[in-house]
Amino acid sequence: MTAIEELLQHAADGGRIDAEEALLLYTDAPFHALGEAGDAVRRRRYPDGIVTYIIDRNINYTNVCVTACKFCAFYRAPKHAEGWSHSMEEILRRCGEAVELGATQVMLQGGHHPDYGVGYYEELFSSVKAAYPQLVIHSIGPSEILHMARVSGVDIEEALRRIHAAGLDSIAGAGAEMLPDRPRTAIAPLKESGRRWLDVMEAAHRLGIESTATMMMGTGETNAERIEHIRMIRDVQDRTGGFRSFIPWTYQPENNHLKGRTQCTSLEYLRFVAVARLFFDNVNHLQSSWLTTGKDVGQLSLHMGVDDLGSIMLEENVISSAGARHRSKLTELVWMIRSAGRIPAQRNTVYERIAVHWTPDDDPTDERVVSHFSSIALPLIEAR
Ligand code: SF4
Repeated sequence: MTAIEELLQHAADGGRIDAEEALLLYTDAPFHALGEAGDAVRRRRYPDGIVTYIIDRNINYTNVCVTACKFCAFYRAPKHAEGWSHSMEEILRRCGEAVELGATQVMLQGGHHPDYGVGYYEELFSSVKAAYPQLVIHSIGPSEILHMARVSGVDIEEALRRIHAAGLDSIAGAGAEMLPDRPRTAIAPLKESGRRWLDVMEAAHRLGIESTATMMMGTGETNAERIEHIRMIRDVQDRTGGFRSFIPWTYQPENNHLKGRTQCTSLEYLRFVAVARLFFDNVNHLQSSWLTTGKDVGQLSLHMGVDDLGSIMLEENVISSAGARHRSKLTELVWMIRSAGRIPAQRNTVYERIAVHWTPDDDPTDERVVSHFSSIALPLIEAR
């Protein structure tokens, strides 16, 4: 056995690998052997072959933002003519539509509006909870939490306690992008540091608020920085156990201020998915991003260690503004899972399986459950 084969076997059997070993596998392991090792971990964790998905809606309450990340095509600066903020009535209307289409979760996310402190989020979450108690509020991220705490002049723990009490169930892994300092500063110079992003997650986990973790690949970061990103998350997870899943996705390069950067290739993405599955011996779920990588890559990822295909995205405004054109519908998402040789199952936010489609006869048939892009994204895309 070569050193790489031994390392793959060790990791596939559940042994811990360090960052240096993960980098070696990422750069040097043969593609098929790497994928097989990642998939071996998935098989051990989920021997019934089930791959999950969720029905949810991503509702953006405002695109007004003071943070001006260079990679972001969604935000508008305060007072910009294209800035908007939805009324509570409109947000509730969208939640109602989501419930009607079978959504179990809502992801409320938005820009760092200069006027939105903790009080705004308390009203937002309590209003949604009062109107639709069946919807799990898996929303915002550490960046919004730091912003609202700053606007209100309170500490992170107080902000977290208040929004949790108002109805926030768990925190989305948004805003992680790249956690190491060099690539993060290059793409989001005004955003909090990666260390600070993790501090907020750790504080939330300590208060019993769980979350997911994400990563955005393809803005010029090195392979070592990609591995450093997951090392930073794994270290926190060792202390808290609060990350339910890891979700890598690829940077979309249009309509923003990051000129000349390339997207991560499909092979880089798939290799990273497998390495993440091997590296995260302490994170239960691995989700891939068909929305940014495309449905074919999404299907392939199910053979590299992925056990969750995420959401149908009844509404998506942020990534689609930057050029992601992939859309799907519930029946197709289920077909993607089944034709990849897995058994599809709808899950809820905490990864409980709420409907397993053991045979094609059990598959959902509701053709109304379709991905939608927002009014701000469509003109950008259709103008081409
Ligand atoms: S990524 Fe978020 S914080 Fe950054 S500019 Fe866009 S909306 Fe603002």
